[in-house]
Amino acid sequence: MGEPSSTDPENASTGGQAPLWKQMDFIRPVGLGSGDRPLCCPSEDSPHSTDSSKLVQKCLQQFMVTEAQLQQIQASLLGSMEQELMGRSSPAPTVRMLPTYVGSTPHGTEKGDFVVLELGATGASLRVLCVTLTGTEGQRVEPRSREFVIPSEVMLGPGQQLFDFAARCLAEFLEALPMGDRHLPLGFNFSFPCHQTGLDKSTLISWTKGFRCSGVEGQDVVQLLREAIERQGIPNLDVVAVVNDTVGTMMGCDPRLGPCEVGLVVDTGTNACYMEEVRHVAVLDEDRGRICISVEWGSFGDDEALGPVLTPFDKTLDQESLKPGAQRFEKMIGGLYLGELVRLALAHLAQCGLLFGGSTSPALMSQGSVTLEHMAAMEDPSAGRALAILESLGLSPRASDVELVQRVCEAVSTRAARLCAASLAAVLGRLQHSREQHTLQVSVATGGRVFEQRPRFLSILQETVKLLTPGCDVSFVPSVDGGGQGVAMVTAVAARLAAHRRLLAETLAPFQLDRAQLAAVQAQMREAMARGLRGEASSLRMLPTYVRATPDGSERGDFLALDLGGTNFRVLLVRVASDGVTISSQVYAIPEQVTQGSGQQLFDHIVDCIVDFQQRQGLSGQSLPLGFTFSFPCRQLGLDQGILLNWTKGFKASDCEGQDVVTLLREAIARRQAVELNVVAIVNDTVGTMMSCGYEDHRCEVGLIVGTGTNACYMEELQNVAAVPGESGHMCINMEWGAFGDDGVLDVPRTHFDALVDEASINPGKQRFEKLISGMYLGEIVRHILLHLNRLGVLFRGQQTQCLQTRDIFKTKFLSEIESDSLALRQVRAILEDLGLPLTSDDALVVREVCQVVSRRAAQLCGAGVAAVVEKIRDNRGLKEFTVTVGVDGTLYKLHPHFASLVAATVRELAPCCRVTFLQSEDGSGKGAALVTAVACRLAQTTRV
Ligand code: ADP
Ligand code: MG
Repeated sequence: MGEPSSTDPENASTGGQAPLWKQMDFIRPVGLGSGDRPLCCPSEDSPHSTDSSKLVQKCLQQFMVTEAQLQQIQASLLGSMEQELMGRSSPAPTVRMLPTYVGSTPHGTEKGDFVVLELGATGASLRVLCVTLTGTEGQRVEPRSREFVIPSEVMLGPGQQLFDFAARCLAEFLEALPMGDRHLPLGFNFSFPCHQTGLDKSTLISWTKGFRCSGVEGQDVVQLLREAIERQGIPNLDVVAVVNDTVGTMMGCDPRLGPCEVGLVVDTGTNACYMEEVRHVAVLDEDRGRICISVEWGSFGDDEALGPVLTPFDKTLDQESLKPGAQRFEKMIGGLYLGELVRLALAHLAQCGLLFGGSTSPALMSQGSVTLEHMAAMEDPSAGRALAILESLGLSPRASDVELVQRVCEAVSTRAARLCAASLAAVLGRLQHSREQHTLQVSVATGGRVFEQRPRFLSILQETVKLLTPGCDVSFVPSVDGGGQGVAMVTAVAARLAAHRRLLAETLAPFQLDRAQLAAVQAQMREAMARGLRGEASSLRMLPTYVRATPDGSERGDFLALDLGGTNFRVLLVRVASDGVTISSQVYAIPEQVTQGSGQQLFDHIVDCIVDFQQRQGLSGQSLPLGFTFSFPCRQLGLDQGILLNWTKGFKASDCEGQDVVTLLREAIARRQAVELNVVAIVNDTVGTMMSCGYEDHRCEVGLIVGTGTNACYMEELQNVAAVPGESGHMCINMEWGAFGDDGVLDVPRTHFDALVDEASINPGKQRFEKLISGMYLGEIVRHILLHLNRLGVLFRGQQTQCLQTRDIFKTKFLSEIESDSLALRQVRAILEDLGLPLTSDDALVVREVCQVVSRRAAQLCGAGVAAVVEKIRDNRGLKEFTVTVGVDGTLYKLHPHFASLVAATVRELAPCCRVTFLQSEDGSGKGAALVTAVACRLAQTTRV
């Protein structure tokens, strides 16, 4: 792949000692080629008396590019860019869109000393710089630099000799610096056509600019430099990045002025780079963050896209160049060519008798005699140098010629600026597209001699860009010594990213559980289950629920259900008929003075709500069987008997703990003499979930909740349940698995962050398993990790943020949003910005990674638990293969984009002999309670029969 990676066109150099024309790639000194005749030439039949100013005007009109033509170029370039990004372009693409592996723009916090080695940017010499970056507070420090002339035998000798020479220059330069033993990162500015495959990996395609060292083409130049540095014995010098000069320009922009995401160079050649979303770059495998893309637009238009705006002068210039047909766009914009275009136009006008009294000079007829510097001087009438320059070219200009020459220069350079604007507009359009933003605020770093020498270029560029991209607010910022500052910045950013990656990996490592760790959790869960069932000390209480069967589908009737302990209190009427279950329900608020008042008040309030509901539903006077979903830990002594162990979730009503909840309800009913209610069952929400799914799928024998908290239940053999007499049949066991590990046995490595969350909770040391898994805690775990990363400087530029200190500010629902695949990083950024976090573009990625790691661990632990449960049932039944369905409820499980699939994957891994289907329950609390009641009624009837 022949990718030029510098702005230097073909074999030209940016200058140095040799006069520019000597380095140009023209072979024949000529005026105009024979093919195209410029429009203004008075032909045989047109009278010589035509006003010469008008003829000149006519000639110069060819350099005019209309707005419509600019828009066409803009659209065509944008099309080529996008084709190339998608990897769909023709074998000979007109723009290259090369990834530079620079993944982040400066934060402004970059600090330290960086060594820069420049090779190929300044002709036959090599430059070494020491650049000091001073972070946010410091003053800019002028870089120290030294230039070394490369002997011609080194430029033409073996590659090792060249790199050894470079290493010697480095050693000599460093010796003079008071650096001591400090470790120094080095950025390598290598301006030759390269194929870059990493930030510190770049293969030379072919030498240009007079270099011909053997054994280097096809090699990784970073590696060659590293080897030479080692041979030279320079300690503590690390080659971190290899950088092209366009990227250097973008990165060299003062970060205090805001992020700069576009670099534009117009020097001898022209090129641009910008920050693209990695997922839009087909040649890269990854799908993360941004990367700087070098557009390589100099070659744009090789496919005739520029046809309509090419003048005969452009065609001549191209034909006479070393590579006709190549770099057509660059040949209209690059500083190397502008002077030549002026010369061709002047020579033509002179030959037509419209300038210099119709005479030319040998210099005017020689390629390269009009330089960019000449042109800049002649374009500016106030400089007053035009006359002298023309005379130095051997011409005898008249006073009126000076003004005409100025107009020629203006025409050529105006066109260049406008074309450059069209291409920049294409890049801005691409940026807009990639960011999915209609309005874009962007800084463009500019660099190169054309900007330095011709201030008008920038103003025309600015004006035209504004015209072509009305939706963009573009500011142009001159880059500070792109070669040095920018390369140092790339190096600094790379060093920072590497350090941050390391810190992030270290922070998140304890959350990453391998298969062995998960299998250990599963095994310990099995142990704890067995002990709990036997009535031995165990963190799993394994509470009998007195639910002895799951629905068989024959259940019928109308039932009342109550749901207390979720987000709302509800009363429901559930009709179980042959054609399915229908539910009418009513939500009732429970005022705070009731939840915090006396138990009597609470249960009176509940009965009031039931009475109201019966009246609304026309059920007054009927005594329907009632199931009570009561989602607090209870020790049940029968289906309709449950001792409240302790309140949770903000309930605090007095005189309830240690009491039978059904008795409390019945007493309240008795106080309200008007009603009769038949309380049949008290139901845990896991059981309700299992039962409601069991009605749809008879294989459902496990219930799972992952919402505010987490818990599970399953059908156990009655003979295994020590607390309940009876040897045959089944019983649903409420595991209360949130408490798993509360006895300190669980050896899942609890991280420092989990400990912080636990300490700050209302029940420190309790519900340890739940605190690693459920919705009430995941956001808090993430918040603590973010806080830590912020302190390490990895996030939010290390700026202290008040908002992260706020408890519960990071909701678990944010994890769902941030991890959603359909959400662009831009939207993730918006969520975090809404929280008031001072975000950089990389921060969103880091936050996403933190969320992923935390929710992944939660899902895997949950999966390990489910694996223990299904394996237990399989063992109970002595089956080799077991097919079972798990009924699931809980907003975290249902709304998180990956939680459910991670649970399933873990279960497949840890319980390979079980085929487990997960079925999400609909209204497990209401429908489930009714079904528990219905099954109890069915069983009661069968027993009676
Ligand atoms: P409960 O467990 O109280 O019966 P839910 O099952 O609805 O209620 O769970 C509520 C919990 O789910 C909230 O406390 C919150 O932590 C979490 N949550 C809410 N929305 C989302 C979401 N979009 N993604 C993940 N978790 C969520
Ligand atoms: Mg619930």
